[in-house]
Amino acid sequence: MNTFERAVKVWGKEPQMLQVIEEMSELTKEILKNVNRKKDNINELIEETADVEIMLEQLKVCYGISEQVADYKVSKLKKIDQRLDEWEKKNG
Ligand SMILES: [Mg+2]
Repeated sequence: MNTFERAVKVWGKEPQMLQVIEEMSELTKEILKNVNRKKDNINELIEETADVEIMLEQLKVCYGISEQVADYKVSKLKKIDQRLDEWEKKNG
């Protein structure tokens, strides 16, 4: 059992899913400080990004959707690449 699976098992699905939301809102706040208030908060951005990634791993464990998310990401990234190709062709 990895750390993400352990955290969900020991602390429970609901508390961990609420923690996902909390960490996402902390990252949101740091992004807004950086973009809107031009704050030099790179360390906070690093920490909150890591926190969100850790919680997203637990979300995937909770819902048993790791493979589906990985598959969807592959197809989504292909579409994004196509859009980027079209954009670059149009806008040089
Ligand atoms: Mg945090």
